[in-house]
Amino acid sequence: MRTVRTVAALRKAVTAWKADGAAIGVVPTMGALHAGHLGLAAAARRDCDRVVATIFVNPAQFDNPEDLARYPRRERADAAMLRRAGVDLLFAPPPEEVYPAGFATTVHVGGPAARMEGAHRPGHFDGVATVVTKLLMMTMADRAYFGEKDWQQLQVVRRLVADLNLPVAVVGCPTLREADGLAMSSRNRGLAPAARAAAPALHAALSEAAAAIRSGADVGAALGAARAAILAAGFERIDYVDLCDGLSLEPVAAPGAAARLFAAAWLDGVRLIDNIAL
Ligand code: AMP
Repeated sequence: MRTVRTVAALRKAVTAWKADGAAIGVVPTMGALHAGHLGLAAAARRDCDRVVATIFVNPAQFDNPEDLARYPRRERADAAMLRRAGVDLLFAPPPEEVYPAGFATTVHVGGPAARMEGAHRPGHFDGVATVVTKLLMMTMADRAYFGEKDWQQLQVVRRLVADLNLPVAVVGCPTLREADGLAMSSRNRGLAPAARAAAPALHAALSEAAAAIRSGADVGAALGAARAAILAAGFERIDYVDLCDGLSLEPVAAPGAAARLFAAAWLDGVRLIDNIAL
């Protein structure tokens, strides 16, 4: 596996592969990789002739400079994991390669980006949509792999790819979890041991609410019980616990076929998100 840091070097490699008729898969990440990321790489490896992974901690999608500063960075270990996963090329550009002087374009998605993460992290999805559009154009990938862990992001990417007619198939991959149910996340590394022990309560609360709603409980009461359980477990703050349509991301008052439960909450200064199908 080769690592390249410029768009020119990336394009050169991909153009040669495409000339041979190879199907290209891309796995965009912010690094500090775990088994969840490797699940995306494995899916790309299965489907595509050549796999490009990207590592870029995108300043534009952080609404909080401290969060950006303390986001884990460990490219050497990441590169070793990607090599073992069969990735052909790692694109790990510096910020100025992605946002050169004079950069003045933003991709803004409405619809599925409006609520939840969009409402609680101003500018976040503009940053995501802009960098994902750029990464898709830079890599010229045929297929792009995203995790259901960030379900709303996956729908925002599907929306922008459809709306901008980008020639790429978006593939969603299931959320990988620790044995205790905690969704794998680079942010989990920031949890002290006591907080790490409390963290599975987020998924547990969503699972209990889903079971209650499925068996006919009032949606408002089930969401209220989930909020109470998350706070009782030691989370200091809840951004949202919502039942939403899985495509539009609009809140729904009653369970439908595509409904999902979504939560974001703060534990030990770390913001954790999760979602499950109803
Ligand atoms: P990140 O590095 O956190 O930006 O994530 C890069 C990609 O990996 C995104 O498409 C995420 O949705 C996906 N991802 C992160 N964690 C998981 C997980 N636990 N299971 C599946 N996909 C994940």
